[in-house]
Amino acid sequence: MIVRSLDPPRLDDGDLYVVGGRVAAPGEGERIEADGLLVVPGNVCAHTHLYSALARGMPYTLEPPRDFLQILQRVWWRLDRALDEESIRASAVVGGMEALLSGTTTLVDHHASPNAIEGSLDLIADALEEIGVRSVLCYETSDRDGPERAKAGIEENRRFLAAKRRLARGLVGAHASFTLSDETLLACADAGPLHIHAAEGLVDTRAVARLSHLGVLDDRTLVAHGIHVDDDEIAVFRASGATLAHNARSNMNNAVGRARALELGPRVALGTDGIGSDMFEESHAAWFRLREDDLLAPGSWPLATLAEGTRFVGRLFAEPQLGTLEPGAPADLVVLDYAAPAPLDGANLAGHWIFGLSSRHVRDVMVAGTWVVRDRRLVLVDQDELVAEARRAAERLWSRLAEIPAHTFGLQGALR
Ligand SMILES: [Zn+2]
Repeated sequence: MIVRSLDPPRLDDGDLYVVGGRVAAPGEGERIEADGLLVVPGNVCAHTHLYSALARGMPYTLEPPRDFLQILQRVWWRLDRALDEESIRASAVVGGMEALLSGTTTLVDHHASPNAIEGSLDLIADALEEIGVRSVLCYETSDRDGPERAKAGIEENRRFLAAKRRLARGLVGAHASFTLSDETLLACADAGPLHIHAAEGLVDTRAVARLSHLGVLDDRTLVAHGIHVDDDEIAVFRASGATLAHNARSNMNNAVGRARALELGPRVALGTDGIGSDMFEESHAAWFRLREDDLLAPGSWPLATLAEGTRFVGRLFAEPQLGTLEPGAPADLVVLDYAAPAPLDGANLAGHWIFGLSSRHVRDVMVAGTWVVRDRRLVLVDQDELVAEARRAAERLWSRLAEIPAHTFGLQGALR
């Protein structure tokens, strides 16, 4: 069966045809047999940090963090300062590889490497294109490492936005309201549409109101988290037309609270915030977390939020059909080895998605008409060699990390 669209859910029998990188009318071009299988549009991870791909299992010897700011100071703002060109590339390779193998065809990444800023987005884009992943990249501008690096961050975003790439687009990365001065924030917005964290922790309270007040929140903005927002800010957010990337597992892991995901909609997409990029797993976790609070949450929500991520990316690529498998849509698709053991149609797709499907069903993946995964293995690169390369890079990254102390930004109070 072919899932033509997740929102509204639309399925049909028959095979899928692809020509010139796009879904074609029946009988035209390459035929993808769907008998006994389920073909779905490729998933989008609407917010991630590829640079955290090598952080799994890394040693930690400092005092355990007690709040969100300390998590940043002691974990992520140490890791990002340890990144060099080798580890940026290796992280992108590992993250991109895992994305495709779990059925995620587009990554929206937010990158930080304060000691290797210039050219970092090209390193990531090159690595992802080599594997065959579609991406939206940005550099995380912040004042936490001083004015030189804030300037360099904006410059890296500007440089990358001007680049012409087949599978990558840019946004302007900004860390979060509490590490950005008005001046830097306005300079970021001047460079292009923002991709910014907002109200993830209490330290970033009133972030949405501030972004709105500065006039930098609009229908092209991508905001991650949106947890500590009041009713007025929810209204402001919805009126702006901005997209929210909701990261349920990350929020639980950091104990930062719960986004009011239904109220912030309809432009709510799902991200992982760096906890891999398996959107089956993320959508399951986000659903159960939502459901725990609200038995009346609509069953269509997981599919609608996944589709919203594809619509956001579709606007950046000027591909309004991205995320569907209708004729003319970019051929970003996933073949699932899932012979439905119970009746399946548009009306109950969400039930199969939450209670039946997972990334273990992912067999083949195509991005922009090119097979990038076949029989659960990457096609364009030597997967084993890349893993071995990444492991060596991770060892070097971890040894540098051991020498880097906790960041002191925020000890004197946030910028705002
Ligand atoms: Zn994030």
